[in-house]
Amino acid sequence: MTWRVLKFGGSSLGNPAALARALDLVAQELEEGSVALVVSAMGDTTDELLEAVDAAAQGRLADAESLVDRIADRAMTGATFALQDVPMAARPPIAHTVREVLSPLRDLLKGVSLLRERTAQTVDLILSFGERLSVAVVTPLLVSRGVPAVPVDARDWMRTDDRFGQALVDWPVTRDQLQALAAVWAGSVPVNTGFIGRTADGRTTTLGRNGSDYTASLLARGLGAVEVQGWTDVPGVMSADPNIVRDAQPLPRLTYMEALELANFGASLFHPRTMIPLIEGGIRLRIRRTLDPDAPGTIIDTQGDPDVRRATSVASLQNLALFDVQLRRLGIRTRLLERAHRALSEAEVTVWMSNTAGHGQGVALVVPNKEAVRARAALEAAFANELANDELTLGLRAPVTMLTLVAEAMGSTVNVAGRMLGALGTLGVNIRAIVEGASSRSISCVIDDAETAVAVRAVHDAFRFAHQEVSLLVLGKGVVGQQLLAQVNAQARVLEQQHDVRVRVVGLCDREGYVFDEHGLDVSSLPALLERRTPWTDDAPLVSLMPRMRRLPVPILVDCTAANGMAQVYHAAFEHGVHVVAANKKPLTIPWGEYRALKDAARTAHRAFRYETTVGASLPVIETLQDLVRTGDRVDRVDGAFSGTLGYLCTEAMRGVSLSEAVATARARGYTEPHPRDDLSGTDAARKALILARELGLAVELDDVQVEPLVPHDVLRHDDLEAFFAALREQDARFAERTERLRSEGRVLRYLARVDLRAEGGPSLTVGPVEVDAQDPAAGLRGAEGMVGFATSRYQEYPLIVRGAGAGGSVTAAGVLADVLKIARSLRGG
Ligand code: ASP
Ligand code: MG
Repeated sequence: MTWRVLKFGGSSLGNPAALARALDLVAQELEEGSVALVVSAMGDTTDELLEAVDAAAQGRLADAESLVDRIADRAMTGATFALQDVPMAARPPIAHTVREVLSPLRDLLKGVSLLRERTAQTVDLILSFGERLSVAVVTPLLVSRGVPAVPVDARDWMRTDDRFGQALVDWPVTRDQLQALAAVWAGSVPVNTGFIGRTADGRTTTLGRNGSDYTASLLARGLGAVEVQGWTDVPGVMSADPNIVRDAQPLPRLTYMEALELANFGASLFHPRTMIPLIEGGIRLRIRRTLDPDAPGTIIDTQGDPDVRRATSVASLQNLALFDVQLRRLGIRTRLLERAHRALSEAEVTVWMSNTAGHGQGVALVVPNKEAVRARAALEAAFANELANDELTLGLRAPVTMLTLVAEAMGSTVNVAGRMLGALGTLGVNIRAIVEGASSRSISCVIDDAETAVAVRAVHDAFRFAHQEVSLLVLGKGVVGQQLLAQVNAQARVLEQQHDVRVRVVGLCDREGYVFDEHGLDVSSLPALLERRTPWTDDAPLVSLMPRMRRLPVPILVDCTAANGMAQVYHAAFEHGVHVVAANKKPLTIPWGEYRALKDAARTAHRAFRYETTVGASLPVIETLQDLVRTGDRVDRVDGAFSGTLGYLCTEAMRGVSLSEAVATARARGYTEPHPRDDLSGTDAARKALILARELGLAVELDDVQVEPLVPHDVLRHDDLEAFFAALREQDARFAERTERLRSEGRVLRYLARVDLRAEGGPSLTVGPVEVDAQDPAAGLRGAEGMVGFATSRYQEYPLIVRGAGAGGSVTAAGVLADVLKIARSLRGG
């Protein structure tokens, strides 16, 4: 007979719906062949039992009692729900059963409260009630569903020593007892208690927290089973802690050794000893999710993932402390590592990792943070002499996190360690210690606790465990914002399929409020999104969204507003590890000192700060300029026709259309700002010139830009549109004269911005109407076309020209998206 062992953990039994699902799953699995069951205590029962012993030991019997009531209620509620479709007459007397199982527990707790004594042995006995109750309830529930279940108290076969709380299994005895019992199991479903065992002299023990896994694998070994199924509430063994990396993926396949490594470094994955019987018996372990039984889950066996180049997982163990023992002088004979280990082991401190640096002159030790005080005392005592003579220093850093990358093929793949450390280095994460040669399957390093999220995510991203995801928080629902959402919506599939990037809009904000969903918003309908807005409050302003962004994959703030005062929002973003893409010019034209501070903040936080669209929409202006500067070219002059609106007006005027008419048409077609003077004044072009000048390293202010508006200042005074147009009409004749003259000379009127680094009297920034020759690159611009020319030492004779559609919501949005994708690409290093 081929057995499969199904293990249900606490959370798979902990609430009525989960319990009912587990029962159905057993019935289903039974159709495929024989199954044996191992069950844990329901939900948080084990924790509550621990609390109950503590309460009783402190004499608070009533508190202990009410915890037992809670445990009883949980079992009752679950059972009642599971039985709702079963006819009255066929319902087992669960209430009676629960009362009967728990009655000796209540007596025990009373005893503890009288004696005020809490021994490890008593604790184990008390904890055993959790699993025993599970078996007592689950068995009749299965029977009521037609499953031939029989209860098995695993203490009847699990022989252990008497290390209470952490008992070791005597396998030969256990195996024999198990096989004797199992002889009669054929045709039925034995429901075993997980976690508990018994000593040779009949005392109850436990195998350590999460011990039910171990019970299941021992049971499987004894029965010669082919498979253990661990049913849980997670989708499988994950590529990283999903609480830190939201796009962590279940790993389809793992080798036993990788799983072992993860269990060692990733904390509570499964009981560390679980793997041993499985390896010995060649038994495969499948992690399956009760909520999604059809999903593949994770399969752990000898073979693992056929793609050996894949890194497996990033495990992170938090709440640790790092001790650093350093000799001050070379050459003293000390055996530091050995002495440190002995001292810590005598003080019963768990050492997670240790490492000798250099030539034995220093030792790093990682211990649980809650044992740090004890550890320090032990180390101080052990090295008392050296400390007194000032020969040795003892450093402590806490809390720290140990981050481990597990990959079966670590040894045979080039530079896994380098890529991991590189990914951390790029983000400026300080590595406090590295474990050399821990095993050929893993590499660990110690980082500050505060950097855990960023570090785990960076390493996870660097190994491309999944599609890369970027998470956008979009500010502004104007033309650019709307277009961006539309483009993300339209291109999502292509980006994912062809570029391996999943762009997710997780938040949308406007002046009134925000919608935020870390799983991603449906951006197909803006009105629907706006309806879901939560209004801003003083307690929850925009910056309060940053901590929520922080843990999402590649978080990016995308500013599509034209708002003032955004610099402080960007600061908050950088501080929280969020990248910024700005289409907003204002934060780049604030006073120089503040501008520098903003760029420094991005650099210090190792965050990307991209703003390509602030000059010339999606035209690659900033990037081109940066490349020139980076490659050592000397820029002499930058000329730009940035304003689509002014370009259009100039072109129309040159065609003989009157200025006021051209402005009216432009306005009617939506080419201008609501009040056209905002275009005619040249302020917008001045901002762009300033951004470029600063990119060239000039410490200049907006006031340093000499702006000549297209029309005299007098005209621009008028707030009232009608008065404005009236004043504009008065200019028509003079303007026409000018264009007439230019036409006859074969020249063209353009509105240009110029940054001239070689100007007499120092660099100058000018913005205004310029009369250009027909050969000038700016002369040929059509409609709202934009252009930037760079005159440099390399491009002296023929300036480098970037030219194309330079304005408009959709090109700007496309430029914003390009900035976003560049951030994604740069993070994965290719
Ligand atoms: N109920 C025990 C615990 O909570 C054993 C287990 O769940 O595996 O640790
Ligand atoms: Mg558990």
